[in-house]
Amino acid sequence: MLESAVIDQLKTIVGDGNVGDDDVTRLSYSYDATPQYQSLPDAVVKPRHTKEVQQIVRLCRTHHIPIVPRGAGTNLCAGTVPLEGGIVLLFDHMNQIIEVDEENVCARVQPGVNTQFFIEQMEERQLFYPPDPSSMKISTLGGNISECSGGLRGLKYGVTKDYVLGLEVVLANGDVLHTGGKLAKDVAGYDLTKLLVGSEGTLGIVTEATLKLLPLPETKRTMLAWFNTMEQAAQTVSDIIAQRMIPATLEFMDQRTIQAVEAYAKLGLPTDIGAVLLIEQDGAPAIVNRDIEKIRTICEQANAVSVQVAQNDEEGQRLTTARRSALTALSRLKPTTILEDATVPRSKLADMVRAINKIADKYDVQICTFGHAGDGNLHPTCVTDSRDEAEIHRVEQAFEDIFATALEMGGTITGEHGVGVVKSPYLEWKLGESGIAVMKSLKQALDPTGIMNPGKVFAKASRKRIVIGA
Ligand SMILES: Cc1cc2nc3c(=O)[nH]c(=O)nc-3n(C[C@H](O)[C@H](O)[C@H](O)COP(=O)(O)OP(=O)(O)OC[C@H]3O[C@@H](n4cnc5c(N)ncnc54)[C@H](O)[C@@H]3O)c2cc1C
Repeated sequence: MLESAVIDQLKTIVGDGNVGDDDVTRLSYSYDATPQYQSLPDAVVKPRHTKEVQQIVRLCRTHHIPIVPRGAGTNLCAGTVPLEGGIVLLFDHMNQIIEVDEENVCARVQPGVNTQFFIEQMEERQLFYPPDPSSMKISTLGGNISECSGGLRGLKYGVTKDYVLGLEVVLANGDVLHTGGKLAKDVAGYDLTKLLVGSEGTLGIVTEATLKLLPLPETKRTMLAWFNTMEQAAQTVSDIIAQRMIPATLEFMDQRTIQAVEAYAKLGLPTDIGAVLLIEQDGAPAIVNRDIEKIRTICEQANAVSVQVAQNDEEGQRLTTARRSALTALSRLKPTTILEDATVPRSKLADMVRAINKIADKYDVQICTFGHAGDGNLHPTCVTDSRDEAEIHRVEQAFEDIFATALEMGGTITGEHGVGVVKSPYLEWKLGESGIAVMKSLKQALDPTGIMNPGKVFAKASRKRIVIGA
């Protein structure tokens, strides 16, 4: 527990109503969207501006109090679980779009801005902010930046780091660091902006960001293509890209996921089919129509069982619903849903889905897979019950095998959800000893007392990876 003098000082900084240390508040911020992780903070604090964040950080540094910055808590790596207590920092008051600069095509925002609200506000001005994590109805820009989130438009438009031009960050010593800015070109010194994007609250607190915008695409069209096998769907993904087509969205669901979605959403989806691709193209109408027709032909040549092109926006929305409701549908099957995000080179998509299914059978657990086919970013999702200890142990073993398999295929342990606590034991598998050493030296330089989101990214012990030779 924090000493009452510290609570009083926090209240002096942000005002009485912006510090909560009662049991209900602490319990409410003891977990996030990650199943099976929970730990109570000592207090929850809502600063109103950067100066208050600075004062809070200085106070915490003096008293060695951990600080866990938290957006909407939708992360799936236990990134906002206060493992070592301390304070959870909320940005409810720092939720303004400070400026939309149409000449420089960028916006300055505070971290607490809701992602979907921001996208909609930009669209009203015919501007486009592409990063669209499926959690965007709830997530915040600060959380997106700190996780470097991706989304359904990642194939064509990239991920959050591709849209962060500059940051204002409060460092662990209370100093304010400004990186980048509105410039389209700026190579002065190390790229500190890129270092901080995706740093998961472990290097500093984002208090403002300058985000790059694009002109809003004139139009968008959507289609679904059904395949008997995952191999055919994966081959089609390669064929589309080999023919120099880069769709805005290229998503897939495997048979197990289609069945769950149909049971939930009753969209009339064929449940005996092996895989479905959701494809969208955006841009000028003539180009979109041309691309959609070309993609339709590629799908048909790849033996698609059927191809369904939406005739209008409303129908497009209906088709997209199938993919967007995947997680909701799966979460109805059992009490606990564990959503992961192993990523492989695109060409290995079918191999990876096959490997995941084999691993699920080996450990006798139920895993459905969907995700961003165009990015090779799979979301193997295990429906289980956290009260069943034996099954949870098998689930953990299955995911360990899945991460190892992804790495063997030249992939990574996370494509967009971050490391947090969940992936930390596997990070060394990906980065090697020297990678971890470089990261630790950066952490030491920026946060020598270790108050910034402790226990995240760096594991107490890395998992031993046992490679059995042939
Ligand atoms: C249903 C569902 C769908 C999802 N779909 C996607 C998806 O398509 N793509 C994807 O990439 N992710 C997805 N996610 C994961 C998650 O939504 C994203 O990682 C999102 O960016 C988190 O935003 P948030 O505001 O909830 O951040 P939080 O979960 O609150 O925080 C995330 C991390 O950022 C840090 N942080 C938050 N604010 C700040 C700040 N101001 N300064 C410094 N650090 C900060 C936190 O400490 C934490 O480490 C999904 C999650 C769910 C539940």
